[in-house]
Amino acid sequence: MDDFDPKSLPVDAALERILSAVQPETEFENVPVRAALNRVLHADVVSGINVPGGTNSAMDGYAVASADLPASGVRELEVIGTAWAGRPFPDRLGAGQAVRIMTGGILPAGADTVIIQELAQRSGDRIRIGSETRPGDNVRAAGEDIAIGARVLAAGTRLTPADIGLLASLGIGSVAVRRRIRVAFFSTGDELRSIGEPLGPGDVYDSNRYTLHGMLSRLGAEITDMGVVGDRRPELEAAFVKAAATADVVITSGGVSVGEADFVKEILEKTGQVEFWKVAMKPGRPLAFGRVGDAWFFGLPGNPVSVMVTFYQFVQPALRRLMGENTPAPHRFQVRCESRLKKRPGRVEFQRGVLAADASGRLVVRKTGAQGSGILSSMANANCFIILPMDSTGVEAGAVVEVEPFFGLV
Ligand code: AMP
Ligand code: MG
Repeated sequence: MDDFDPKSLPVDAALERILSAVQPETEFENVPVRAALNRVLHADVVSGINVPGGTNSAMDGYAVASADLPASGVRELEVIGTAWAGRPFPDRLGAGQAVRIMTGGILPAGADTVIIQELAQRSGDRIRIGSETRPGDNVRAAGEDIAIGARVLAAGTRLTPADIGLLASLGIGSVAVRRRIRVAFFSTGDELRSIGEPLGPGDVYDSNRYTLHGMLSRLGAEITDMGVVGDRRPELEAAFVKAAATADVVITSGGVSVGEADFVKEILEKTGQVEFWKVAMKPGRPLAFGRVGDAWFFGLPGNPVSVMVTFYQFVQPALRRLMGENTPAPHRFQVRCESRLKKRPGRVEFQRGVLAADASGRLVVRKTGAQGSGILSSMANANCFIILPMDSTGVEAGAVVEVEPFFGLV
């Protein structure tokens, strides 16, 4: 028994088709730095200043000239003043002189070395120093962190809190970022109820709109939630037309599995050019991709785990590209698996796992339990995908498997 289907599309090929179709949005806007968090930089950011601005002390101690450092033994120097952070010592240091200096204080003219206070014996306005300190010790050079003209952030960077702080440290108040991408989505299925409605026999609460809302929010998309649309032609057709009229991307869940697909296919033949794929993956085999009106369209399967897996493997990379982001390859690495994993050959499987340290502190993975595509708790309890390749027939406990941690998923 296997799951091999000669008409199915490998995961890599599906992703490649999607990424080669979708082109980055080039429109941009200027926003204040705080509002730029999680937005994508439109252009390189170049520093207009040196950081630090002046050569300064990395420690509390005494600024001296390296010529005054004794090669051996002890030397006495005269302390002629103090340099504080933000209040430099105004005069030049002569031979045999030192200046008391605080961390961040600008080195006075004539000084090039700082002796940490623990290595200086002070009495009155004199210090005695030994031969432990090397020329240039405990000094931060002007521009050592960032030099004037250096590129500090590249176009296509999704800005993190550290990036926002970096921009502020350069005195930059606003930056150009790509415009937000508008995403409209709806769920299809006569059995779906919204929160607050009573459940009839066979009904389920619509959870896909909530996971989609969460995943899209993290990506900084401008979201339109169009609710639940029943499996009826006029309703569905109207929803597609309305979504495509305003959004850059339309996402639906449900209605693309065999049997249901024909129905949706007919509607989409009128309003767009959409391909229906059987992707060689589990969960998430049925997937539709193409254009509806002027928008990109992703028709995801209905099962709650399938929605998340196909979103993270296909929709998220496409959206990041559309948003102008330089998208690195996903973080994937090999780790020992403590669970036995069952699998049939023929499809890539994205099982849900928990990465944690074992008793000896080494990273290992175990599965979250039952792996059905409707079991959303398998996703909620996980912190990674365990990716089993197409021809794998499962693994015994102790085998090495490939994982993709969720921290790589924005
Ligand atoms: P479908 O792809 O429409 O055949 O749906 C596959 C399975 O996923 C069915 O059991 C549906 O009830 C379920 N399902 C579809 N859409 C949703 C949704 N929005 N929320 C929760 N379950 C769903
Ligand atoms: Mg359905």
